[in-house]
Amino acid sequence: MQDLLATPIEFLKGVGPQRAALLRGELEVHTYLDLLQHFPFRYVDRSIFHQVKDLVEDMPQAQLRGVLGPLRTVGEKQGRRLVSTFTDASGTVDLVWFKGARWLHASLKPGQQYILFGKPNVFKGRFSFPHPELELAETREQVLEAALQPVYSTTEKLTAKGLGSRAIWKLQKTLLGQLVGSIPETLSKELIDWLSGLSREEAFRQVHAPQDQTRLDAAIHRLKFEELFFIQMLLLKQKLLLQQQLRGNVFGSVGDHFNTFYKEHLPFELTGAQKRVVKEIRKDMGTGRQMNRLVQGDVGSGKTLVGLLSMLIALDNGFQSALMAPTEILAQQHFATLSRFLEGLPVVVRLLTGNTKVAERRSILEALRAGEVHLIVGTHALLEDRVVFKQLGLVVIDEQHRFGVAQRARLWAKSAVPPHVLVMTATPIPRTLAMTLYGDLDTSVIDELPPGRKPIRTVHRYDSSRSAVFGFMEEEIAKGRQIYVVYPLIEEADPAKMNGQDLKDLTDGFESITRRFPLPKYAVSMVHGRMDQATKDYEMARFKKGETNILVATTVIEVGVDVPNASVMVIENAERFGLSQLHQLRGRVGRGAEQSFCILMTGDKLGNDARARIETMVRTNDGFEIAETDLRLRGPGDLMGTLQSGLPEMHIADLIADAALLQQARQVALRLLDLDPGLRDPKNASIARSLAERMKGKPVWGRIS
Ligand code: ADP
Ligand code: MG
Repeated sequence: MQDLLATPIEFLKGVGPQRAALLRGELEVHTYLDLLQHFPFRYVDRSIFHQVKDLVEDMPQAQLRGVLGPLRTVGEKQGRRLVSTFTDASGTVDLVWFKGARWLHASLKPGQQYILFGKPNVFKGRFSFPHPELELAETREQVLEAALQPVYSTTEKLTAKGLGSRAIWKLQKTLLGQLVGSIPETLSKELIDWLSGLSREEAFRQVHAPQDQTRLDAAIHRLKFEELFFIQMLLLKQKLLLQQQLRGNVFGSVGDHFNTFYKEHLPFELTGAQKRVVKEIRKDMGTGRQMNRLVQGDVGSGKTLVGLLSMLIALDNGFQSALMAPTEILAQQHFATLSRFLEGLPVVVRLLTGNTKVAERRSILEALRAGEVHLIVGTHALLEDRVVFKQLGLVVIDEQHRFGVAQRARLWAKSAVPPHVLVMTATPIPRTLAMTLYGDLDTSVIDELPPGRKPIRTVHRYDSSRSAVFGFMEEEIAKGRQIYVVYPLIEEADPAKMNGQDLKDLTDGFESITRRFPLPKYAVSMVHGRMDQATKDYEMARFKKGETNILVATTVIEVGVDVPNASVMVIENAERFGLSQLHQLRGRVGRGAEQSFCILMTGDKLGNDARARIETMVRTNDGFEIAETDLRLRGPGDLMGTLQSGLPEMHIADLIADAALLQQARQVALRLLDLDPGLRDPKNASIARSLAERMKGKPVWGRIS
């Protein structure tokens, strides 16, 4: 029965090879099922009639009953068009067509009663309908096909070939006629009843040709639920498989290194969230299965320490750990932080990057192989084949979205039993997205900042008040603070795409700042991604050591750079940054005891989205709230770009609008797999069959390393 839905679309009556090619190319419709899943994006209620006097300017469409006036051709050449009028008891509107005049002359009958349907525009104070749909009133009286008519998305190319919304509707009806009794059920009776009783076939029928609003709503609800439910079932099922398959080292005990550090060296109390996450990690690493855990924590929430504590547990169990960072600067910083934390403890920490000198590298590699290095911190250099561990037990990856999946996979090869993997990210992933993307992973959230932090104060300033901003910077420098000024050199990773104007803005900015803050009283440094590594490191180091007051930079400083004395972040052209990027940049300040500030500079004219982004930044410091807003503004597709991961295909459900239903679908799936993990109960047979169908040929995805 499933086979009928898999029939290629060209075999449907009214399609044929040419239209099939178009449907495939334009709408990704290959099979009968694909067509059924090309859902209407809205409905018009054709039982409602308007009167000319009731028309208002921004109506999406209106339906009138009246008399068609005479047809006239007006205008010259390009401006040539066919016009007419349409009159009901309350008034008259204009009609206009820019093409098809010959056909219209032949088929329309002026003076007759028509039903008109279309979008009203206001032109020179009168309502006008471009290219209205016209239907003889007497025909309509005979066949009112349906009150609620679906509207399908289509493309210009399709419309030109006669496959507009109405034609697609017709195909749907032909198909449904052919499929009577042949659309297999995918849910259990129990679930169907719970979801208001529509079978899958009935739901498809109601969605494409609704009988009334109630049944339409029930159909949409069922189909959305079904879609979200199977996404969750797939993810959860894969998680179960993964857990059965992946053997991991058992870190059964917590020993001296952890305990001594925790009791005698930890300079502060862990936050509640840190304690909870460390506990989750400990539990994972003790199970005998490989840990794949994602730790999300806002900037400054103390992820590094959580990583360190996990590495000490590995060490207590006789294993080495690696901490990987996406950049040289970050690796150095982590190395310095860990070394400081571990001072006086018998733990050997080394740093390995592309810049490590040959002799030193050789000694590090030897010590790693001999098991004399306990923790190694580094960049991609750690992935090289010559890096061999005696016994690698844990890999901690900072800021995962900068690492490719393939690169991470190379770590697996370094150990007979795959190491536990902990990924730490400061990019908060909205809950709904995380549930669909990482539903098969374990995630922890550090949702609490260490005590005593002063929330960063964020303000929006227009370019016109630059001198006041400079004045403020001067005051802060006088107090001994340091300042970041960031420019949007967005494409710098790819010089071919780079915008020359951006680089000019950056260098102009640098010049005007050095003019306003001149030597010898002030010092200004600059870094951007197109500098060579040595210059970049040098400039960065000067700022870190406090030798310069201002760092003019691009987004190279976005991730992880830690200079506690820097308390002001000025972001130029803030309207050009995405929300999560703004939030990451802001996270560079607010790391010390002083009050920190973030100043968002923009031009006077702001688009709606840009304004919403700036307002969100000014309103809140909460990374998760920002991520949710980002999701709403940009949509999941765009957000995915930055997360490098595949979002499951969705036809009818929407991650933002249907968040509550997603939550429900997940709960139902969890419960079902809990009660019947193998889906062997006969009453779940249709679910089992559909799931097996969907799992065919799918790799185990979602794994983070
Ligand atoms: P992020 O999560 O952004 O990586 P870090 O790990 O860099 O945050 O921590 C930010 C700062 O907070 C560091 O200076 C760190 O030493 C400090 N810190 C971490 N945990 C605590 C805590 N429980 N109490 C006080 N300070 C903490
Ligand atoms: Mg960090």
